[in-house]
This record gives sequence, structure tokens and C-alpha cells, in this order.
Amino acid sequence: MDYSKVILKSGKDQSVRRYHPWIFSGAIKKIIGNVNEGDLVVVTDNKDEFLAIGHYQIGSIAIRIVSFEEKEIDADFWKQKIKKAYELRQKFDLAESPNNNVYRLVHAEGDGMPGLIIDYYNGTAVLQMHSIGMYLIRDHFVEALKEIYGDTLVAVYDKSEATIPFKSDIKPQNEYLYGESNDKVVLEYGNKFKVNWEEGQKTGFFIDQRENRKLLAKYSKDKSVLNVFGYTGGFSVYAMAGGAKEVHSVDSSKKAIDLTNENIKLNFEDTSRHKAFAVDAFEYLNEIDDKYDVIILDPPAFAKHHNVLHNALQGYKRINAKAIEKIRPGGILFTFSCSQVVTKENFRKSVFVAAANTGRNVRILHQLNQPIDHPVNIYHPESEYLKGLVVYVE
Ligand code: SAH
Repeated sequence: MDYSKVILKSGKDQSVRRYHPWIFSGAIKKIIGNVNEGDLVVVTDNKDEFLAIGHYQIGSIAIRIVSFEEKEIDADFWKQKIKKAYELRQKFDLAESPNNNVYRLVHAEGDGMPGLIIDYYNGTAVLQMHSIGMYLIRDHFVEALKEIYGDTLVAVYDKSEATIPFKSDIKPQNEYLYGESNDKVVLEYGNKFKVNWEEGQKTGFFIDQRENRKLLAKYSKDKSVLNVFGYTGGFSVYAMAGGAKEVHSVDSSKKAIDLTNENIKLNFEDTSRHKAFAVDAFEYLNEIDDKYDVIILDPPAFAKHHNVLHNALQGYKRINAKAIEKIRPGGILFTFSCSQVVTKENFRKSVFVAAANTGRNVRILHQLNQPIDHPVNIYHPESEYLKGLVVYVE
């Protein structure tokens, strides 16, 4: 191994010894050798003892660790890692299930691969690289995917244009690295969804809400359901499947609403129970009276950085207060936050203040999180981002 070496300041090795995969720039004492962004580097403590190997990048997170063992980081290394991720999905019936062909194959740090997301959509793998080191070796990932999926792999799409740091020299474009295919219908617990990874948000679909959508179906029978921030109607399809009396979907994006209508049609012959509205969530909630028994609030991340945390918490309070105020007595609210910087406790506090503002009696029925194909690395609590509460409003 002829990687450059990064020596840490005294005491700054502690988090690495506890397997945290990030090294911040302030922890670095010295870099030996000529290092370019995306290069692999060997990390040592200030007594030259080996700690880890990682991808170097200019920025606050200077190194993302890919191995805590001293070994060759080559194509085979990545193949083995991705295979392990696949085996986990297979073991828990996500991969190769007749009812399901959409799942997250690689969840970055959660699967020991910081900077790499791979989502699988019925034959097409969508790659999203968040680090330059991962971006530069994307061919390895394509090779690994070909080996794992064989003939069932139709295409590999790279969607890193918006996720690679804009200051880097690389100018990534969204493009097919293998094959070509778009607008596939995928199956999630037997429900059909049309996914457009080229134009859709993130990699095309919010796979992380699978189990929470399934739970919603249980509470939907004969109910009036409002799905706010519905995107392409994930929760709406499950509410319909669960026997809801009526389902209304709200999203500010006209494209998302069009896809919602398509997804409802894909699953149900009679679509008369469903209506979709391309309007602002806050405005919609302001104008309704108490006509809904079940409300889902799944807003986009209100805070992407710590410096806007306060505003984000205000946002969660406002929207939850509106929903709790308007829901029918005996109603059930599914409320979520996908902001990584908002902790479970902070989110719960926002819902608590929202409830207190309305004066209604509110009980927590479920505390929700992300599913097994979005695993949380125990050494990297930051991988935990999705949290939700199901509350009963008297
Ligand atoms: N629940 C969805 C994912 C929601 S993503 C699922 O299960 O697939 C968040 C959605 O909120 C996006 O579709 C975005 O278009 C929408 N959105 C963002 N701001 C909004 C606003 N002010 N009013 C309504 N929708 C909004």
C-alpha cells in the first residue's frame, strides 16, 4: 500500500478507536505525501500506529473511513462489502421477494460505506455518491452489481450531480453507467409504484417509509385520510389498500401529484375514493375543518444544518399544531421528521409543544424510525435520521 499518511493530533485518535467513520479537519496534525481529493489515505495516531484507511476530501469532514483494518482497498474489497449489504437485504426478505423489488442496497455509513448510497428499483440500481473518493471508483460498484444481480440487472444510473461537493474539480452529470431504463413500476409489499429516478426527488422514491406506510394501512379502514407532503402517493396507496373511505393527497409539486394519480390508478380500478391537490401544505391545513380521521405529515427535511435547527423546530411545531388542532376527535396523526440534525428528543418536544398549544389530549401510540435497509451504524449515531410518532388525539 503506497497511500499517503495522515497523522492525527494527540487525543484525536479516540473517536477512530471507537470506530466512528469521520475524521474532522481539525483533528489532523500532519499530512505526509501529496494528497488529492478522493485519494485513499492511511490514518495513524501521533505515535505512528495504524488506525484506519479512508477517503480524503477538503472540507469539515476530511476523511471518511472505509476500513479499520490494514488491507488492500481494491475492486474485490468493494465487491465483498456490497455483497455483504446484499446478503443482509436477502436475509430479511427484501431482496428476491415476490412481493418486493425495491430496497436500499447500500446505506452509506450504516453499511460501512460512507459517501455511497445504492437504491435498487426492480432491475435498476441508482447510485448516489456523496464523496469524491466514492465517485472516482464508481466503476467498481458497477462491476459488483453486475456480479450480484447477473442478468436481472437492467441498468445502473448515477445520480450524483447534486450530491458531490460543488467546489470540487469534478463536474458530475447524472448518467447511465450501464444499460438504460426509466419509469419502472416497482413492487413494495405488493403495492405498485411508478418510479422516475431521472427526474424524481432523491433517487426517485422514499424507500425509507416502507414499514411506516404498512402500519398506516392498519389504521385506515373506513377512515377519511389526509396525506400531507405526499410526494408520489406512497402513504395514499397504503391507506386505499387498507380500506379507507376517502384519501386526499397534498403536495406542492404538480409533477408529484400527477404521479400520485398514476400510482392510485395502477393499484385500484375504482379511484373515486382518492383526490389529489397540488397546493401548499400549510395553506391546505389552514383551510380545512375537522373532516379527517387520519393525517400523515411527512415534510422534507426542514433543517439540513445545525445553524437552522431553531427555525426547523418552529416549522415542526407549527405544522403539527395545525394538524392536531384540525384532526377529528379520536383521530390518528402520523408525523415524521427526516432531518438528520433534529434528534428524536427534539422532534418529540416539538410535537409536545404543538399538542400543548392546542390543549387536546394526545397519546403516543408508536415511535417510528427507519427500516432495516437503512441500518444505523452503532458507532455512527448520525446515520439515524428518520423518526416518527403516531399519536392518538382525543
Ligand atoms: N411521504 C412521501 C415523501 C415526502 S417528501 C413518500 O412516502 O413518498 C416531501 C414532499 O414534500 C415532497 O414531495 C415535496 O414536493 C413536498 N413539499 C415540500 N414543501 C411543501 C409545501 N410547503 N407544501 C406541500 N408540499 C411540500
